[in-house]
Amino acid sequence: MGLIIRSSAIHAAGCYTTQPIAKGALVVEYTGPRIHKDQADIKYENSFVTYLFGIGDGTTVIDGHGTAMFINHSCNPNCETEEINGRVWITAIRKIAAGEELTYDYNLYDGEEDEARCNCGARECRKTMYSVDEIRQRKRAVSRKSSARKRKAAKTSEKAARQRSR
Ligand SMILES: [Zn+2]
Repeated sequence: MGLIIRSSAIHAAGCYTTQPIAKGALVVEYTGPRIHKDQADIKYENSFVTYLFGIGDGTTVIDGHGTAMFINHSCNPNCETEEINGRVWITAIRKIAAGEELTYDYNLYDGEEDEARCNCGARECRKTMYSVDEIRQRKRAVSRKSSARKRKAAKTSEKAARQRSR
């Protein structure tokens, strides 16, 4: 498959196909050494950019090395990733024309404070590369925090009311 790396409007460099790709085709494998998630956390503690791909139950990550690590995220992608017998493949989810940039939805998770803002330009862009599930969980965590604050506020005002009635 003819894939080239060149500058991209989405982010830095991107991966483009020089040939048309059929829907469902295995485009390229996400290659790189397999390391433990904890090992990756130490290795990339101070790195701004990482190319880690969680596989299986997420304790193992592929430390991206090769063509696939240049494929950018899009909220309206033309590819997706598929784990087949322990290997990760980028597969086409629609017919892709020659010259198109390849993209898949990163569905990021476990990113702590990092915002991971998205600039893919798709009409349905969710403005972040985090997965829909991850966004939902974060929202829930925030609302749990704010309801705890509200409970605390209610208790304080109860006490204030008691003091007033004395
Ligand atoms: Zn987007």
